Amino acid sequence: MKRRDFFRSAAAAGFVSMLPAKQLFALTGATDMPAVTASGGETTLEGAAVQELADSMRGALLTAGEPGYDHSRAIWNGMIDKRPALIARCEGAADVSHALTFARERNLLVSVRGGGHSISGKSVCEGGLMLDLSNMNSVRVDRANKTARADGGCLEGDIDHEGAMHGLATTGGIVSHTGAGGLTTGGGFGRLCRKYGMACDNFIGADIVTVDGALRHVSDDENPELMWALRGGGSNFGVVTALEYQLHEQQPMVIAGDIKFAWKDAHAALMFYAEHGNDMPDELNLNVMLVTVPDVGRVVSFEAVWSGDPSKADSVLAPLRKVATPIADTVAPAPYAKFQQRLDNSNRHGVRMYMKSGLVNNYTEDLVREVQEVHRESPIYAIFFMQSGGAVNRRAPTDTAFPYRSAHSNMMVWNQWFELETDEERAERIGNVRADWERLRKHTHGFYVNLNDEDAAGTHANYGKNYPRLVRVKNQYDPSNLMRLNANIEPTNS
Ligand SMILES: Cc1cc2nc3c(=O)[nH]c(=O)nc-3n(C[C@H](O)[C@H](O)[C@H](O)COP(=O)(O)OP(=O)(O)OC[C@H]3O[C@@H](n4cnc5c(N)ncnc54)[C@H](O)[C@@H]3O)c2cc1C
Repeated sequence: MKRRDFFRSAAAAGFVSMLPAKQLFALTGATDMPAVTASGGETTLEGAAVQELADSMRGALLTAGEPGYDHSRAIWNGMIDKRPALIARCEGAADVSHALTFARERNLLVSVRGGGHSISGKSVCEGGLMLDLSNMNSVRVDRANKTARADGGCLEGDIDHEGAMHGLATTGGIVSHTGAGGLTTGGGFGRLCRKYGMACDNFIGADIVTVDGALRHVSDDENPELMWALRGGGSNFGVVTALEYQLHEQQPMVIAGDIKFAWKDAHAALMFYAEHGNDMPDELNLNVMLVTVPDVGRVVSFEAVWSGDPSKADSVLAPLRKVATPIADTVAPAPYAKFQQRLDNSNRHGVRMYMKSGLVNNYTEDLVREVQEVHRESPIYAIFFMQSGGAVNRRAPTDTAFPYRSAHSNMMVWNQWFELETDEERAERIGNVRADWERLRKHTHGFYVNLNDEDAAGTHANYGKNYPRLVRVKNQYDPSNLMRLNANIEPTNS
């Protein structure tokens, strides 16, 4: 029997209930339930033990059919449809500790949901135990020390919002409902990364529950190897229940918007990016999207964000505006925290996406030509470059676990749509992206683990010199590889 069928038949046989978990187990006499182990085997969870876990938690422990279960398991990418045996809606570190201990003692498959933005669906699991951190979302800013402490389930927008009140900011992602836990521990590009470094470069401390159930504080002084590994090594070492950030004085208004060029000017626009992408001021962030606009056709759209002295914005952007005559130019003063939300709706939860991505070190004319050839005229298709450089590239690859310190930009190719697709449509959309990537991949040097967590051999190669050090940290804190739904660092002493 396929694993998914195993769970569906278990549900039909009466393992599910509409009652809250604590009542469910009390009334049913704690029914045993099927589950899946970390290595993919079938196991049975004793009802009494599940009841004990439910009783130990402040938050709810949910089974299929209960209110909230479908909400928790539905992550950002609407194509992901997995059904955990249990969902622990954690309210704090103690809940995380109890849930992780329960999973470790049974070698259960575990997933952790922060913001739910894992494009491949790593934050939800089929038949295992999902820890949903969404309720852990408070942020406290320390104005005097210019730091923030955010709970492990916070979204990027939560941190932007609280920082803005004090005229402070740090690098966060470009969609405000991305989870801070996943984004930061994997790296964290954003509109301020050229100025302040990656999110992980501003990540100065954390609380983490490791798989032995212990709550540890990490910083450069306490458990420094673990701190180093959390700056780019992802969720391999435990569940981060709080993140501490360095914040920076940031004027509330940035000069930001889109400068769009017609497709006939695509070559000139992309060559500008190739020639100047590496030597722009740190305060300028330029992300580039090749996309189809209804009634206009294909365009090359630069999203420009100037976070420096407002009086200098025009002179900094003048060369870009001279590349060709823009067909649109919406650059204007905007509150930074508000601008951070501009893509939230077009990237709202439930969207269906298939993406391939990789880091571009040398943005050559060959790449420009091939990108133009490959690009498809379609409203659901895009090629996107998220800019790197600046402060990101002034760190050495071994300073943090995040090793990609030579990239000009991060190239992504995707199809993204909202309505349900047929099997044929899905296969075609995925196939198109794969085919295009076959042509474009040769221009990349590794990939960003937050966008590509599927390729185990690639993950090893990607981390380069940092991989053996990451394995040592993994061996120490997660020798049985309980935390495996991520760009996985495999322990060698299990
Ligand atoms: C719309 C969209 C916009 C994006 N924009 C950016 C961007 O601007 N910059 C950028 O760098 N990346 C961006 N990303 C990629 C993003 O960084 C990753 O998808 C990241 O993993 C999302 O974190 P999450 O908490 O939302 O995801 P989840 O799906 O909840 O989790 C992703 C991974 O992180 C782990 N995880 C999450 N929280 C914790 C925690 N507290 N402790 C331990 N492990 C945890 C999970 O186990 C899982 O392996 C974007 C993705 C999307 C879908």
